[in-house]
Amino acid sequence: MYDKTSESLKVNEARKDLFTRKGRAIDNIPPTEAALLEHSKRACYMASQCWDRCLEPSPSFSDPGAWGWERNKSKMWVPFWTSLQEASACCNELIKCGCKAQNGCRGRCKCLKAMLSCTALCKCGGECDRD
Ligand SMILES: [Zn+2]
Ligand SMILES: [Zn+2]
Repeated sequence: MYDKTSESLKVNEARKDLFTRKGRAIDNIPPTEAALLEHSKRACYMASQCWDRCLEPSPSFSDPGAWGWERNKSKMWVPFWTSLQEASACCNELIKCGCKAQNGCRGRCKCLKAMLSCTALCKCGGECDRD
């Protein structure tokens, strides 16, 4: 589902593979196991609580809060996407740049802007010279 060429059996392993070996951007890899769990809960809820009972005149529903939904400020039910923080927001260490090694890292370099050293994740391979 996440990558048809992957041999990973866990979604988080498949994500790691896409990020580290296949060079996908952190914001562009499929959802985490935690997000998949919430999505699965919502799918189960819709199937068992809504569609399965659609012929009942006044069905009583169990609390959507236990099934991947939460109330927003306007008290409307909205999807509870994940119990995890957004990776790109909480993991500065995952920043990587696309600078070419021969040009060096300067100007628009993402690592430089975040005041981090380049790593093996960067296109420059962390071998850049900054002057
Ligand atoms: Zn750079
Ligand atoms: Zn870098």
